[in-house]
Amino acid sequence: MLNMMIGFFKDLWKYREKVKKQDKWMQKYIAKNNYALNPSWMMSTNLKIWLSEMEATFSKRFCPCFEPSSDAELNKKMMCPCEYVEDEIKEYGTCHCALFGRADLDKAGWKSSSKRLMSEYQVPLNLKDGVLDTRGKPLDHRRNLPIPDAMHQLKATLNSYTGDSLKMIVSTEQEVQNLQKIASFRGFGCESTNHSDYHEVTLQLK
Ligand code: SF4
Repeated sequence: MLNMMIGFFKDLWKYREKVKKQDKWMQKYIAKNNYALNPSWMMSTNLKIWLSEMEATFSKRFCPCFEPSSDAELNKKMMCPCEYVEDEIKEYGTCHCALFGRADLDKAGWKSSSKRLMSEYQVPLNLKDGVLDTRGKPLDHRRNLPIPDAMHQLKATLNSYTGDSLKMIVSTEQEVQNLQKIASFRGFGCESTNHSDYHEVTLQLK
């Protein structure tokens, strides 16, 4: 928990200008669509930081909850604010990431949607002896993408992992490419090997 808080404030400082820019377009967007932003400062700031990091890593404002896919059409739909907002607000009261929600959503509604989101991402990881097997996670029924995906499993692992290197097992070539971009952005070494039905990516963290 302490590591997560330290990471949050470090990232907030790093992305402070970008976070302000994210807030500007979001304020216009919610006013135009009669939505609201998550009233939890910590939650909405974290999402603005993650959006800024997605832009810095993948050069586009991808949804902070899903890594880019190999489907160009789906990727277009996943730019924030994504094409699923209205539909998801009808279902959960908020978008998938609990960033935007109904203007009249009460505190309990925001809390419950944030809890739903956390329960999707805070799942046990298949990490053993420095090997993180990311496969077999459930798929989001709108985007058909895993939750949590390999990128989010890596992020969760890095919160407490102390090893010098991490081997990741992923299912698709797209996940390998995403991990290569993340490694390059974060200054990690990265090597990959393709097998017939999976890929191995070794990240040199130190
Ligand atoms: S789910 Fe929310 S945060 Fe994610 S892209 Fe859609 S609008 Fe943005």
